Amino acid sequence: MADRLVSYDPRNLQPVGDVETTSPGEIQGIVERSRKAFRTWSALGFDERKQHLLTFKRTILARGEEVAEMVSRETGKPTSDAYPFDVLTSLNLIDHYARNARKYLKPRKAGTWPYVSTQGWVQYEPRGVAGVISPWNYPFFLSIIPTVSALAAGCSVILKPSERTPLTGQLLGELAEEAGLPTDLIQVVQGGGEVGAALVDHVDIIAFTGSSAVGRKVAEAAARRLIPAVLELGGKDPLIVLEDADLRQAARAAVWGGMVNAGQTCTSTERIYVVDAVHDEFMVELDKALEGVSAATGDRKDIGPLIDDRQYEHVRRQIDEAVAAGARLLRGGRTLEGPGGHYIEPTVLTDVDNSMPIMQDETFGPVIAVTRVPDEDTAVELANDTRYGLHATVWSKNRARAARIASRLRSGTVAINDTAVNFVMTTMPFGGVGESGLGSAFGEEGIRSYCIAKGITRARTPLPTTALLGVRFPRRRGMAYWKGLARALFRW
Ligand code: NAD
Repeated sequence: MADRLVSYDPRNLQPVGDVETTSPGEIQGIVERSRKAFRTWSALGFDERKQHLLTFKRTILARGEEVAEMVSRETGKPTSDAYPFDVLTSLNLIDHYARNARKYLKPRKAGTWPYVSTQGWVQYEPRGVAGVISPWNYPFFLSIIPTVSALAAGCSVILKPSERTPLTGQLLGELAEEAGLPTDLIQVVQGGGEVGAALVDHVDIIAFTGSSAVGRKVAEAAARRLIPAVLELGGKDPLIVLEDADLRQAARAAVWGGMVNAGQTCTSTERIYVVDAVHDEFMVELDKALEGVSAATGDRKDIGPLIDDRQYEHVRRQIDEAVAAGARLLRGGRTLEGPGGHYIEPTVLTDVDNSMPIMQDETFGPVIAVTRVPDEDTAVELANDTRYGLHATVWSKNRARAARIASRLRSGTVAINDTAVNFVMTTMPFGGVGESGLGSAFGEEGIRSYCIAKGITRARTPLPTTALLGVRFPRRRGMAYWKGLARALFRW
């Protein structure tokens, strides 16, 4: 009998339900079925695929509350966070790609100078079977992004949700079935890392969202097979506050960005650099913004528990080690014994320095660390002093100055006078640099990741370019001819 995977509510450690696990040995057969679905799906035109995707969207809309409730039960976040960040964002992404896939994948003419007797174009063709491995923190949206990007590109999908949120993954599969998507177009497999690893061993492209450590393993396995890997990994996001910032807004954004989902967001604000001139005033605003925000579930200012023992112990250790190394606990820091779950108070640390693990390693918990800096240049230098580079935030009323700083930050995305909005901007690339990942989601970059960009040339004249140039056997052109041609074309 197949093993069962049990999902627990992190708020009270009560079981939410269970699913049947997939054995790694089954993956090959699942991929073969997916390949058949791929052939049918990729042969459909954009219009037909669009209609399917729009039906899928409407099916999710009709059962959106149920999705939010499932996400809430499996992650411990309130439904009032799950609906906007898992359901609404998914509807927007599906709608966007359903309506824009044709535009993003339109064949484009390519210039052929100096080979003028040739014309050329690039066309985007789906790669085949896409494997999607997703994490638990936004389990519906982070499964939908790669799944729908791949479908819109013409690929079929095998989704492996996190073992912490298998029921949300299962629900996604049910919604696809209810929407009448072709058989086996989206198959959901269940299990832990061994099932994910088996998937990487058989699919044509792998889209992985999760930690940098596992992302590296996935990249290595993909490299062995020479298949592309889109990697959306961890972050250690900085927030810079300059003298001319709206301090109240900056502080409120920092608290939201750092604490929502108990800090378990890839674009979570973890490091704050405030210039000296406004540091004290900013700290007063930060304190106000934190008023009433607590580690519990129920109230409109509650942040919920950490997902599990492992995550709790990691955050606990980071706080304790930082304090032991000289950091000052300005607020929070205590563990609260919930009804079974692991809750850590919203925590603010100061007197940190960039060499501490709390400033270098992803926390993924309700902790923000504030550093006073003398000026803008130091803020940029410290913000860039990281292995990660997913998202960064700059606060200044001077638009030109803020844009200049955004350009200097080594980060896949930057928000000026806001935080983490890039995570819902389906029109522009979202991705990381360094240990935050490879490749991007969203926009034309996101959908094209699932395609082969095929270059096609066609001779414009009865005599092809190679014949006109005399590149034939027996060779008729000597060095003098080639050197003359090079000078004629490129001496300018
Ligand atoms: P994780 O890396 O532990 O697990 C992610 C997924 O990988 C799970 O489905 C897991 O079963 C699977 N997996 C584990 N070992 C594997 C292997 N060897 N081969 C293939 N698959 C394997 O991450 P998590 O704890 O679920 O999620 C939290 C992490 O995700 C954080 O680091 C966070 O920053 C990151 N994240 C990144 C983004 C982004 O867009 N950049 C978004 C959300 C979360």
